[in-house]
This record gives sequence, C-alpha cells and structure tokens, in this order.
Amino acid sequence: MKRLAILGATGSIGTQTLQVVDAFPGEFEVTILAGHSNWQLLLQQAEKYHPQCMIVTEPAAYEKLKQENRNPGCTVLCGMQGVLQALDTYPVDMLVGAMSGAAGIEPTLKALEMGIDLALANKETLVAGGDLVRKAQQKSGAKILPVDSEHSAIFQCIEPDSKCLNKILLTASGGPFRTWDKEALYQVTPAQALKHPNWSMGQKITIDSATLMNKGLEVIEANWLFGVDYDNIQVLVHPQSIIHSMVEYGDGTVLAHLGKADMRIPIQYALTYPERWQSDVPRLDLFATHQLTFEEPDLQRFPNLRLAYEAIAKGGNMPCILNAANEVVNLAFREGKCGFLQMSEVIAETMAKTSFILEPTYEDYVQTDRLARQIAKERINN
Ligand code: NDP
Ligand code: MG
Repeated sequence: MKRLAILGATGSIGTQTLQVVDAFPGEFEVTILAGHSNWQLLLQQAEKYHPQCMIVTEPAAYEKLKQENRNPGCTVLCGMQGVLQALDTYPVDMLVGAMSGAAGIEPTLKALEMGIDLALANKETLVAGGDLVRKAQQKSGAKILPVDSEHSAIFQCIEPDSKCLNKILLTASGGPFRTWDKEALYQVTPAQALKHPNWSMGQKITIDSATLMNKGLEVIEANWLFGVDYDNIQVLVHPQSIIHSMVEYGDGTVLAHLGKADMRIPIQYALTYPERWQSDVPRLDLFATHQLTFEEPDLQRFPNLRLAYEAIAKGGNMPCILNAANEVVNLAFREGKCGFLQMSEVIAETMAKTSFILEPTYEDYVQTDRLARQIAKERINN
C-alpha cells in the first residue's frame, strides 16, 4: 500500500486525488490530510479515509476541527508547522502537493529533503523557488511526478535516452477571452473570468487561465521540471484542449499526448508511476472532435504571458516576484479591487520595484515574497 500525504486535500485537485484513491481499494493509504480553512470537508474526509493526522493551516479552522474531531487515533495539528511536524512523525511514500500558492514551498522542500516522492500540482512553488526545489530533489534523489496536465503530458512524451530533445510545445486553451478585443478586456468581471471553457478548477488557477498567467507559470514550471531553456518552450493556443502538450525532437519527430480534459488522468499517472493503470474516466472520441487548431498567443492582449517570459529570462528572484504579485492581484481581482488588465500593470510595476537578487538563498526568497506582496498591495490600495 502506498502511503499518501495529501496537502490541499479540500481543493479541486485534492478531492480528485481522493477519487483516484477510491478507484483502487487496497492500493493507497491516506496517512496525512491537510487543508487550509475548510475544516468541515476535512472532517468528512477523515471519517472516510481514517488518516493518522489531519492539519488545517488557518488557526480559527484548527480550533473548530479540534473541537469537532470524533476520529480516535487521528491527531489534529495546526499551521505549516503542523504539516512539517506531521511529515516528521507519520511516514509516507508520496506527498501530493495540491495546495495553492507559494505557501507550498516549505512542505515541498521538506518532503524532498526527506526523500519522499512528490506528485506536484502546486506550480507556484516551482515558480517561486524552482532552483531550491531542484537542488533538494537532486540531493535526495526523490522523484517529482508532475500533476499539471501539460507537464504530465510532456513527462510522458520525453524519452529518457533521447539525446536530441529540441523543444517543448506547451498548449493553452486560451481561456474564456481568447477572441475578445482589448477594449472588452477592460470590462471583464470576476464572474465572467471564473467560467473556464474546458476545465473545472479552483478559483485562483481559473483566473490565471483567463489572463494567460497560468501558461506563463507553466513555462517556468516546465523550465525547472525538464531543464529546458525558456527559449525552447513555445506556447500554442489550442482551444479544444485535446492535445495536452508536445515535445519536438532533433530528428523532426513530434510526440503529443492526447486525452479528455480530466485531471484524474494525470493525478492517477503520478500516483501509479512508473505503472499505468486502468481507469473508467470518459474516453476521448476523436470523431466528435472534428478539428484541432493552433494559434500564436497574443502578448498584447495577454501581457501576463510576456511578463512570465521576462521573469524567467531575468532569473534569480524575479519569478518569485512575479508569482507573489500575481497571487495578490489575482485575489484582488476576485474581490473586485483590481481590474482585469490592471492585474498586469501591478505585476509589471512590482517586478520593477522589488530588489533583484541573482542568486537568492532560502531567506532571500522568503523576504522577496513578502516584499513583493507588500508592494503589489500598496499599488492596488492607491
Ligand atoms: P483549490 O483552490 O481548489 O484548492 C486549494 C487547496 O489549497 C485547498 O485545499 C485549500 O484549503 C488549500 N490552501 C489554500 N490556501 C492555502 C495556504 N495558504 N496554505 C495551505 N493550504 C492552502 O485549488 P486547485 O485544487 O485548483 O489547485 C491546487 C494547485 O494545483 C494550484 O497550485 C494549481 O495551480 C494547481 N493545479 C490545479 C489544477 C486544477 O485542475 N484544479 C490543474 C493544474 C494545476 P481550503 O479549501 O481548506 O481553504
Ligand atoms: Mg495546466
């Protein structure tokens, strides 16, 4: 039985991970479950999966969870400190990183340092601290199995013995505003942006998909996961979301990964790797697909993708600055405090104003993240 710690268990990826667990009775043991604020759902999950420990990172939720917990043998802990303590106390074989935001960096590094394999959905951690994650992974030899659908696709298309990987072709749906002109984009409301045409996901990533920041974060994620330079990572807008990404080799071969837009497929692959197991998710019907189309992304209407390329080109702590500013504007947009296109302006200004560090230490990253959030918040409040 593979023992799992699922961080972000109460979110979209976390709950779908538990659906994959349900599909294979006797194969997985849920040892640690962590959420942030949704203690009610965590409690329900604990009643079903009997973990040895559950954690919420929000203090008020912790008080409620502790009070309501009726699961004997299940310890309740609080905060990121609680997550780290749980990893020290309850042995697991794999950590599913399904929390949102750069808050995932500490437990991700901790798991890798302990040699625990990682099924990683939490892309912000790789964007904010990619070199730290890579160093920790190289040191312990733990595996990082990508859960992000594009990166799972790329991972499956990369031949371990190939000497001529040329290029990654990263596909993007284009989001709900793919065909909108710039004037219309100024008027976009949170409700419109929260309706993704192809995928059902958490709110933060859904907004990132609408601004193409999600694709920018994924370029940086691919850079760190596969060691491919950003110059050789090309984004293609593919509105059907059938091809989840492609890899081009030096002999002219292009390998593509196709499938339904269903996150249980990449989650399951990460959980069962290196094996591929049967699944009853809906099948891809290519006759119903009619056509597969590809467009170049428009960096004028969607400047966030350009900013992400600039951040990875600059290197150092710049992707961390980009990510922190984006987390701030993304939430501010959802709360009605920042316009759709204004999000890019605030990110660009934060990138210009936050001190640049070429070779940041862990402490530098923590400091950068804090400072960039502060600068972005001040800009929004003014
Ligand atoms: P959700 O918003 O649905 O869930 C986020 C999870 O993280 C929840 O369990 C939430 O807890 C928890 N959380 C929120 N804030 C914090 C915090 N500060 N510290 C610790 N935990 C926190 O997000 P998704 O499931 O959509 O996304 C999770 C990650 O996976 C993101 O990094 C996203 O980019 C990535 N991803 C998601 C995809 C998808 O299809 N959803 C596809 C590809 C990647 P609670 O709800 O209890 O407050
Ligand atoms: Mg993705």
